[in-house]
This record gives sequence, structure tokens and C-alpha cells, in this order.
Amino acid sequence: MKTKEKVIHYKIKKGDTVEVISGVEKGKRGTVIKVIPEKGRVVIEGVKLVKRHLRPSQKVPQGGIVEKPAPIDISDVMLVCPHCDKRTRPQMVIVRDGVKARKCRKCGELIDEV
Ligand SMILES: [Zn+2]
Repeated sequence: MKTKEKVIHYKIKKGDTVEVISGVEKGKRGTVIKVIPEKGRVVIEGVKLVKRHLRPSQKVPQGGIVEKPAPIDISDVMLVCPHCDKRTRPQMVIVRDGVKARKCRKCGELIDEV
């Protein structure tokens, strides 16, 4: 019997450091704070900041404006390898039975297990 394999659509996940490779935010780096797989989008700390108006509340009685990152297309970002600090499209490798890991194509180091 074949075991059901989990399909991994996105090689980018929460907590990754990524670099924006196209668009107006090109070249910016940040940490992924949210992945929205159904929309193919990611939210990155400090990237594509949009101003949001706050209603006056108990905490902020005068209301105000906050800057929050907006989601961008997952294809516009690339993972930054924590070992060599280069942008990479990680390769999935099997490290042991049923355990896969992301591997940097640039330096060959394993990034993490998934
Ligand atoms: Zn690397």
C-alpha cells in the first residue's frame, strides 16, 4: 500500500527570511509573518506597508494611522538561505524515512526539516 504523501505547494513558510524579487518593493528583506496558501500570498514584516486608519478606542483615544504590511504574491519573493545569506529556491530532499528537508541550492546546506 502506498502511503499518502503530503503535497507541499509552497516552499516558503512563516518565520522564513525572504527577499522581494520583483515589484516596487524589490530588494527588501523581511520575515514572513503569514502565509495565505489559498491565495498564494505572503505577508512580510516591513514590506508593502499600507496605512490603516484606527478608530478611536480606549487604548488609542485619538484614533490614528498605523502602517501594516499587506500580502504580496508568493512568486515575488525568494527564500534567503540562513547559511549563505543568498536568495535560493530550496530543493526538497528526503533526509530519512518520511522526513523531508529544504536544502539550499547555492551552498548545499539543509535549511530545515518539513
Ligand atoms: Zn545556502
